[in-house]
Amino acid sequence: MSTPAHQIITASPPQAAHFIDGRYVCATGALFENRNPATGALVSLVPEADESQVDDAVRAARRALSGPWGRMSEQERAALLRKVADGIMRRFDDFLRAEILDTGKPKSLAAHLDIPRGAANFNVFADQIMAVATESFRMATPNGGQALNYAIRVPRGVIAVISPWNLPLLLMTWKVAPALACGNTVVVKPSEETPTTAMLLGEVMNEAGIPPGVYNVVQGFGPSSAGEFLTRHPGVNGITFTGETRTGTAIMKAAAEGVRPVSFELGGKNAALVFADCDLEAAVQGTLRSAFANCGQVCLGTERVYVQRPIFEAFVARLKRAAEGLKCGDPFDASTTLGPLISQEHRRKVLSYYERARAEGAEIVTGGGIADMSSPFASGSWIEPTIWTGLPEESVVNREEIFGPCCHIRPFDEEDEAVAAANDSPYGLAAAIWTQDVRRAHRVASRVEVGIAWVNSWFLRDLRTPFGGSKQSGIGREGGVHGLEFYTELRNVCVQL
Ligand code: NAD
Repeated sequence: MSTPAHQIITASPPQAAHFIDGRYVCATGALFENRNPATGALVSLVPEADESQVDDAVRAARRALSGPWGRMSEQERAALLRKVADGIMRRFDDFLRAEILDTGKPKSLAAHLDIPRGAANFNVFADQIMAVATESFRMATPNGGQALNYAIRVPRGVIAVISPWNLPLLLMTWKVAPALACGNTVVVKPSEETPTTAMLLGEVMNEAGIPPGVYNVVQGFGPSSAGEFLTRHPGVNGITFTGETRTGTAIMKAAAEGVRPVSFELGGKNAALVFADCDLEAAVQGTLRSAFANCGQVCLGTERVYVQRPIFEAFVARLKRAAEGLKCGDPFDASTTLGPLISQEHRRKVLSYYERARAEGAEIVTGGGIADMSSPFASGSWIEPTIWTGLPEESVVNREEIFGPCCHIRPFDEEDEAVAAANDSPYGLAAAIWTQDVRRAHRVASRVEVGIAWVNSWFLRDLRTPFGGSKQSGIGREGGVHGLEFYTELRNVCVQL
């Protein structure tokens, strides 16, 4: 049955859907609840895909590879992707509302980051696919003649896209856009916490003229559900995943069957290194964003802050003041700067680290508990932004990714000491370096073991640059031409002349 998205989400109770072969597929089996983390209210009932629906989606994606999509030129694909970007911007308010209801994130963030970046991802990779070149070599042949070698890029086939809840549209399109630009087809499994924007995108794909089966969405959970059925499906040629390192381990095992390639953007325990020669106010404001934006639910966020001793007290005092100035409230109110955590379950996890910090003797500079909210937000998963000092480096609070609005601040004396502390982690996603000494900036950036080192900034992204993590923070790089390594295969053609 084909049902427009707006009819599905205005049904009572609202229903989410799968999107398979260009059509919305409503529930045939189990339903689960999608709740608004700001209020606890029901947003929609979501169908959980069973194995046969995942199979339908993968088969649709395989069929589409040999249909009109598979015969399109790069120019034609790029033109369609630009229409998808335009379609997201035309439906900006629908996407914005859906993202805010699913995540509880403030409008001030979603309107400036999530939705415009969702559209920008399609434009960037449309540009990118038009700009790539491949190598060619002329060679002498044993019979005295010549041969010409040239490489062509071919799509991998059906790509499974498994995405998280923290930046749902942004992170999902960050993978869907390059996959489609390269001529693949996709089956997306959005997070069970945030099913709506992936679903809405189906209608935009249809309106843009993307052929049926090129973009498919199956809803559900991970283990023993849609996520696992998809990653284990033999019709999938590659798996791109953003989420926890532990989930990446499970997906890698599934990918081993059939020797399928993976591209992973995983967890982090990111450090900020704040040197005494920095612009203190810029460092405080940058760390305020990196620790507390999206209620601390950003993979690139800072949870460990190392501050050089001469400015330690001043930095802590200023960051405390700034954190206490964050405003919890109605996510749709433009003045709200701090939303809730994604769920009650996640709040229990983050609060267990707050408790652990207290038990291990941390000094609580600010926060440490549940944020007190009145109706209609009293049943939301609100939490206080929290800053600690005084914990040992080996504390689990300093070693494990918490993914909440919190950070620990520790003083250091020497540059070597700060670099060693930053690197003493199984993760290696991002670092922020705050200094006005240009030599120090380059030196430290070359020594921190991360995929992305920011100097005097944070989350400043040029989408042409390589993005990914070192150590247990990921496998591979996406962004710009780098994603082509995963989303295409190179075929060498050797022509005897
Ligand atoms: P998660 O790993 O719990 O879930 C991510 C997705 O994987 C969801 O769609 C989930 O249903 C699915 N999944 C879970 N188990 C699965 C399985 N066995 N097989 C197949 N699919 C499975 O992550 P999350 O809680 O949604 O997101 C938060 C995590 O994501 C944090 O660790 C954060 O650092 C990380 N993250 C990383 C980046 C990055 O770019 N490196 C960006 C954003 C988030």
